Amino acid sequence: MRLRNIKGADEFIENYSFVIKHPEEYKEKWKEVFQNTNPIHMEIGMGKGKFLMELAERNPQINYLGVERYSSVLLRALQKHQETELTNLYFLCLDAALVEDMFGCGEIEKIYLNFSDPWPKDRHARRRLTSREFLDRFDKILSAQGKLEFKTDNRGLFEFSLEEAREAGWKIEKHTYDLHGDDEMCADNIMTEYEEKFSSMGNPIHKMIIYR
Ligand code: SAH
Repeated sequence: MRLRNIKGADEFIENYSFVIKHPEEYKEKWKEVFQNTNPIHMEIGMGKGKFLMELAERNPQINYLGVERYSSVLLRALQKHQETELTNLYFLCLDAALVEDMFGCGEIEKIYLNFSDPWPKDRHARRRLTSREFLDRFDKILSAQGKLEFKTDNRGLFEFSLEEAREAGWKIEKHTYDLHGDDEMCADNIMTEYEEKFSSMGNPIHKMIIYR
């Protein structure tokens, strides 16, 4: 999904009012961004942002943040956002490894991870967003009742993630290896770009919801 060297991407992002340019300045003050006290939900590794935009449209009483590491990918989301009237969705160009510097304890109510990079080599396991190292970071910024929802079609990554969650002391609220065949878990499902692509190839989609 990484698109290199798109001309003008950085300038566009710099000037787009729904991008938070210095997120560390809002640590413990994210409510000021939205100017209300609604809960804040965040997708990390949002890609082109379809999921988050549909979610923000459906739930005006919730504030959303979209985190994406690459500006060239973020640009695609912003171009789509421009065509909406959404004011409950802001964006950050940020490596997820830095979330603790940007968010205070318990500031976030829900984290979504969708089709996160699998990092298949064992020696890269710590880079997976569902590794215990990342779960420890998310633990700090999630509220006491906070939840994390993860979807992927990658069975190996999904099994790793269930194992890491247990090892890191999280509880599995629900999980399925076939989201689209599970009426209850799929009830209000919003498909991500990757989910549309991989499920159309016949891959079952796995989902887990975890909490501490
Ligand atoms: N969630 C989208 C995109 C999945 S691809 C979908 O389901 O369609 C994974 C995305 O995560 C890519 O856009 C990648 O750039 C981003 N990403 C990977 N590692 C990241 C990190 N450490 N911090 C922030 N974003 C990351």
